[in-house]
Amino acid sequence: AEAIIKVENLRKHFPIQDPLPFKKSTQSVKAVDGVSFDVFRGETLGIVGESGCGKSTMARLINQLIRPTEGKVLFKGQDLAAMGPKEIRDSRKSIQMVFQNPYASLDPRKTIKQLIAEPLEIHKVGDKASRLDRVRELLEVVGLSSYHADRYPHEFSGGQRQRINIARALALNPDVIICDEPVSALDVSVQAQVINLLKDLQKKFQLTYIFISHDLNVVRYMCDRIAVMYLGKIVEIGTYEEIYQNPLHPYTRALLSAVPKESPYDKKERILLKGDVPSPVNPPSGCHFHLRCPYAVESCKSVVPELKQNGDGQRVACHLY
Ligand code: SF4
Ligand code: MG
Repeated sequence: AEAIIKVENLRKHFPIQDPLPFKKSTQSVKAVDGVSFDVFRGETLGIVGESGCGKSTMARLINQLIRPTEGKVLFKGQDLAAMGPKEIRDSRKSIQMVFQNPYASLDPRKTIKQLIAEPLEIHKVGDKASRLDRVRELLEVVGLSSYHADRYPHEFSGGQRQRINIARALALNPDVIICDEPVSALDVSVQAQVINLLKDLQKKFQLTYIFISHDLNVVRYMCDRIAVMYLGKIVEIGTYEEIYQNPLHPYTRALLSAVPKESPYDKKERILLKGDVPSPVNPPSGCHFHLRCPYAVESCKSVVPELKQNGDGQRVACHLY
């Protein structure tokens, strides 16, 4: 399959302000710390990990909301950082985002019509009448009646607001939508509806999704491939089947063991990890996971494991393989 996005050795380090102004800070938060992967056209790639692992920073890097410290994001073979203003505008149309909080991301003073037409106005698509037609069409596409166009966000439920956000993201006919925890703020019953909508839209418009979540239960209904992140790095990446049926990395196994069991006969043991996720300011040496890993050996403290292919299966960053 064709890679629509290629991420190459991407790093984002945020310098920490030193309390003494005359001293130059040498510390930084290593939010994304050397990550490479491809996103194939038409797939849903899940990026999974606990909060603080760098998922949202990665989303913002791919969408050019922030610039990388090092490394590249290629969109259709072109380096986003090296693009001129026109290409940047075009790529902005092609890569859209849906954020977690459907309450915060819609301006309460604007009508639904204004909110959905906004990206069209910014990119000077069509005239006023054609934009209104497009808004009505988009509302129907996301399962809301066009009759709602003159209402305000507060008149809608959380699930409906997320549909409005999705309509906004679709307005410019993007190739890729990055969904950053799109259903985390919603009730479980509403989550399923929004996920089914995203799946239907993917088929209808040949969309590629990057689906960011801390919730492996949500990801399993959505994703073709899954990348597991821990402290700024991908520790395992593979197909849905590989990750769920044969998780290799001890961290992936622990995450999966925390997902509620499907039947009482499920023999899967809950793996409890020691301690919390360490700070990304001074991540542990060697394997970032060694302080919490039940299988850690001496070399794990000093040698960084590379993300390597394991047989025909997934890629994993662990000295056990
Ligand atoms: Fe555990 Fe070592 Fe593998 Fe890291 S490299 S996950 S510490 S066994
Ligand atoms: Mg986040």
